[in-house]
Amino acid sequence: MKIVIAGAGIGGLAAALSLHRAGFRDITVYERVRELKPLGVGINLLPHAVRELTELGLADEVASIGVPPSRLSYYNRFGQPIWSEPRGLDAGYRWPQLSVHRGEFQLLLAREVERRLGPDTIRLGCRLVGVEHLETDSPVARVAGHAEFAKFVREGGDGRPEEFEVAADVVIGADGIHSAMRAQAYPDEGGPVWNGLILWRGTATVPTYLDGRTMIMAGDGEQKFVSYPLVAPGADAGATRLNFIAERRAPEGVDETADWNHAVDAGPIERLFADWSFDWLDVPAVIAAADEILEYPMVDRNALPQWTFGGSTLIGDAAHAMYPNGSNGASQAIIDGRTLAFHLANEASGPEVSTDAEARAGAVRRALAAYEADRRPTTARLLEMTRQLGPEKVMQLAYDRAPEGFADIHDVIPAEELQEIADGYKRTAGFHPAALNERASLTPESAPPMAD
Ligand SMILES: Cc1cc2nc3c(=O)[nH]c(=O)nc-3n(C[C@H](O)[C@H](O)[C@H](O)COP(=O)(O)OP(=O)(O)OC[C@H]3O[C@@H](n4cnc5c(N)ncnc54)[C@H](O)[C@@H]3O)c2cc1C
Repeated sequence: MKIVIAGAGIGGLAAALSLHRAGFRDITVYERVRELKPLGVGINLLPHAVRELTELGLADEVASIGVPPSRLSYYNRFGQPIWSEPRGLDAGYRWPQLSVHRGEFQLLLAREVERRLGPDTIRLGCRLVGVEHLETDSPVARVAGHAEFAKFVREGGDGRPEEFEVAADVVIGADGIHSAMRAQAYPDEGGPVWNGLILWRGTATVPTYLDGRTMIMAGDGEQKFVSYPLVAPGADAGATRLNFIAERRAPEGVDETADWNHAVDAGPIERLFADWSFDWLDVPAVIAAADEILEYPMVDRNALPQWTFGGSTLIGDAAHAMYPNGSNGASQAIIDGRTLAFHLANEASGPEVSTDAEARAGAVRRALAAYEADRRPTTARLLEMTRQLGPEKVMQLAYDRAPEGFADIHDVIPAEELQEIADGYKRTAGFHPAALNERASLTPESAPPMAD
């Protein structure tokens, strides 16, 4: 079975590793950029994603670049506590939550793809232009690539990248929020949808706060500050490297793009948070200490009625880009790849399927339908919850009911209501501890033994 993946982001690379684990061998990943660099700042891998990485044999490597947060604590804009819950192993999961640097994690996955699947698996400088015969069982990926980066591609006489075609049984669009495959399937959709908030993301080395492993969120739906450590406490006594996200409704007329690499000055952002010096964290001081601050509009995409077209389907942000509320984007992309590989292996193993084109096409159709049935409704619900602020709704409720602060949060929001908001999100996102701990593995029974 020949599988083409467009995009070597977290979703595409995790899909390649999942398909390989499930027994597939003819997998090529085409990536638009000419060099993979450690871009972005921190992301969280929630226990449901760490489970999949563990079952892919990556637990130790990922743990070596991550920090398991002990708690997630919500505060209002005066630093008063609203809700706090243990995370990962401390919350009863069999797998930890890990805060990692997005770029380091992406490079780790890329190295592992090259080690397991072969050094030519990821073809850099190769952009998916579109898929010929998108609605059929015989998709053909149309790719534009530079000879310098994709050894086998000839350049056009004028030095421009030449387009070439790759016929495959399955083409997976893992090409992110600006997906070419999605645009082809939905030509009238337009760009990402912006909710009017601006995010500023950065990392900073600052004095350790709380227990050195707590992820905090302070504020409300209009203005918010989130931070979590990216190094384990004790690595540098008294200091920690934090990832932070400052968020605020944008003034009129701001240019909305979804560019992750747009650096801005700290000064104006520090001033927006000037009053946010809590006795447990000095927010303006964190912003002032940032190595670099990236500005990004809070954008997502509307839920789609269909992801699969013949032998082609979408995963990750290409399928369901969502706001970072709930820290679920990368985790959901990883689960997509594992689910797709699981169904493909269940439908497409066996000698008849491997040699007969018609049997293969039937197996792909059934597998992609099962993948979409598992993942599309779940991610659509999650997308809707992130638009309602996800678990961060507790911060907005506290603000709506007590904008000037409170003596005790339970005078404002009953404990049961707080608990139900936290539990409801976890159930929808597929990481309620009981459900996750008991769910069967997504490694197919037919998977070959794990190599070293
Ligand atoms: C540079 C960058 C920085 C980011 N930083 C953060 C961050 O700091 N925090 C955070 O929470 N999230 C960040 N994200 C988003 C986060 O990584 C995703 O939400 C999540 O990991 C889902 O990943 P994905 O693989 O579906 O999409 P992405 O991570 O967006 O990966 C898509 C990949 O496809 C490639 N691509 C795009 N178009 C094509 C094409 N036509 N043909 C071939 N390849 C193509 C892209 O170059 C990219 O490598 C970032 C994304 C990017 C691309």
